[in-house]
Amino acid sequence: MSTQLTELFDNNRRWAEETETREPGFFTRLLSQQTPQYLWIGCADSRVPANELVDLLPGELFVHRNVANVVVHSDLNALSVIQYAVDSLKVQHIIVVGHSNCGGVKAAMNSWRVGLADNWLRHVQDVRHQHRAWLNQVDSAVQVDALVELNVLEQARNVCTTTVVQDAWGRGQTVVVHGWVYGLHNGLLQDLSMTVAGAADVEVAYEAALAGIHARYTVMA
Ligand SMILES: [Zn+2]
Repeated sequence: MSTQLTELFDNNRRWAEETETREPGFFTRLLSQQTPQYLWIGCADSRVPANELVDLLPGELFVHRNVANVVVHSDLNALSVIQYAVDSLKVQHIIVVGHSNCGGVKAAMNSWRVGLADNWLRHVQDVRHQHRAWLNQVDSAVQVDALVELNVLEQARNVCTTTVVQDAWGRGQTVVVHGWVYGLHNGLLQDLSMTVAGAADVEVAYEAALAGIHARYTVMA
């Protein structure tokens, strides 16, 4: 690896040339506008590259990523992304995507101290705490993945309760919130059926998706 990271610039030039060859005018068309249909809220993990795993091009996916795909009501960063995506870009879908074997969720599950991030991961520990009675009965080998799914559900619900999404629904704008998980082991997305298209659907979808998670994981006798 060079100190100037010239290999990344080489990669970039090759990628830009190949993209332009495949689709002449690709970049100049994107100059004037972006019209993504989707907002992706995912984990910062390098193994979960948003655009690549759904095979979407630049301009097609608006992306926000942080450790363990957390949506906190007071996080101006995430809220600003959601607000711009909904009010200005008019995305129709907001997708919260967790992933199996998530390091942040694993730390939260095991109460590991990792540093400053402990404070951020406290939000995932809150999810663990909220569901502790059920989680304690889940086979320890799959507890992390169970918490990954519960975390997606809770964060998707947090998206639903933001003023931005509530106001959008209130004025009749189409915004559908989804909760998915990505399998690091097979590269496949799974829909947790936390699909919410209006304020009245939030708790119904949440309860149905939660029942689905409970059914999928083996609870020890
Ligand atoms: Zn992760």
